[in-house]
Amino acid sequence: MLQTAQKLIVKTAKHLNLSEEELNYLLKANKEHVFEIELASGRKFLAYRVQHNNQLGPYKGGVRFHENVDINEMRALATLMTLKTAAVGLPFGGGKGGVAVNPKELSKAELEEMSRKYSAHLAEQIGPEQDIPAPDVSTNAEIIDWMLDEYIKRSGNSSRASFTGKSTQKGGSLGRETATGRGGVVVLEQILKNLDKQNAPLTYAIEGFGNVGKYFALIADAECPNWHLVAASDSRGAVWNKDGLDTVKLAEHKAAEHPISQFSGLAISNKELLTQNIDVLVLAALENSVNEDNMQEIKAKYILELANGPVTEKAYEYLSQKGVIIIPDILANAGGVIVSYLEWLQNKQNQIWEEVKVNNELRRYLIKTVNQTYRYAKERHLNLKEAATTLAIQRIIKAKKENK
Ligand code: NAD
Repeated sequence: MLQTAQKLIVKTAKHLNLSEEELNYLLKANKEHVFEIELASGRKFLAYRVQHNNQLGPYKGGVRFHENVDINEMRALATLMTLKTAAVGLPFGGGKGGVAVNPKELSKAELEEMSRKYSAHLAEQIGPEQDIPAPDVSTNAEIIDWMLDEYIKRSGNSSRASFTGKSTQKGGSLGRETATGRGGVVVLEQILKNLDKQNAPLTYAIEGFGNVGKYFALIADAECPNWHLVAASDSRGAVWNKDGLDTVKLAEHKAAEHPISQFSGLAISNKELLTQNIDVLVLAALENSVNEDNMQEIKAKYILELANGPVTEKAYEYLSQKGVIIIPDILANAGGVIVSYLEWLQNKQNQIWEEVKVNNELRRYLIKTVNQTYRYAKERHLNLKEAATTLAIQRIIKAKKENK
């Protein structure tokens, strides 16, 4: 993932005639914090915070607890955050953090201890104008609440704007839970509008009916009556139904922890879901789902990258050349960081916005970004990923020159 992100930056820098110094500035993280967390039990874990770039504003990015976390994954995800915040026009930079741990192996008390120790170690690096962590894979509002509490104790800074993704009791924003899925709906709708295809009925499949995938489906159902979910998967299997899946019932079925393959329809494999004859393939699980092994079998006309990096570089090129429109992660899943920004704004202004206001602001940011990116891609004969990356890098380099 790091190589893919860096190659994209190198390619864009060439296209923009950037200097060697500017390229290196974009590739290299400003600061990398690598440290050990030792729990009272004596167990030790490696922890990270990569602060990639803060030209446009404080570092912004989640903290994940996952056994695959390592420095290169952190560098890649921090780089993507720098591009994403710049692509959307937020006054933030990019960062990412994590601990190499399987959180399922920790007791609740240990999880709290881990979260507090992570935040305590980084207390001097964090702050509303410095670095603003948030939840990511296997972290949630409760974990962020612990981190914020510890940060306040250590730093004496009581601003709730130091973290986003908090519980609403601690200053979290309404609409944050649904933001990434909702953002995906808005982005797809807007791309279809630009293509003058907004009224055509379409079928779609979701890989990864988790938090993001589920809200995408529920919101699409409520707001886009022409869209029909015909297949969905989770890590344990998939289901297909040509007459459409009832998204509300499917969400209830999943909440009751029933296998998705037992939902009304035909049980299919996760691999089969990717290659169904559908209009839109929504990828909301993990990275590298569409790759060299399966790219030739993909039949969808559009791919929406709700996960980070779900289409490999080779597959992206191959499918783009075949005319498949791939809506890149830095646009498709930007809803989450936009509502994080709105949470930060509310905290700084000591306000609590109604959910409808949050959703309207989210929509406004995304529509503007999609239209700008689409136009730029069309004018320069770029794909959407190249266009979004170019616009992001131009903003960062322009600010660098102005701030000198
Ligand atoms: P989640 O854990 O709630 O959901 C992920 C879902 O994917 C789960 O249902 C899981 O069972 C399923 N899954 C895992 N492996 C699979 C496989 N091989 N085939 C099919 N399904 C599989 O996580 P989430 O919060 O919904 O995040 C999903 C993706 O979106 C992640 O890549 C995350 O980094 C990205 N993302 C999330 C947010 C956010 O706000 N949550 C923001 C930006 C990006």
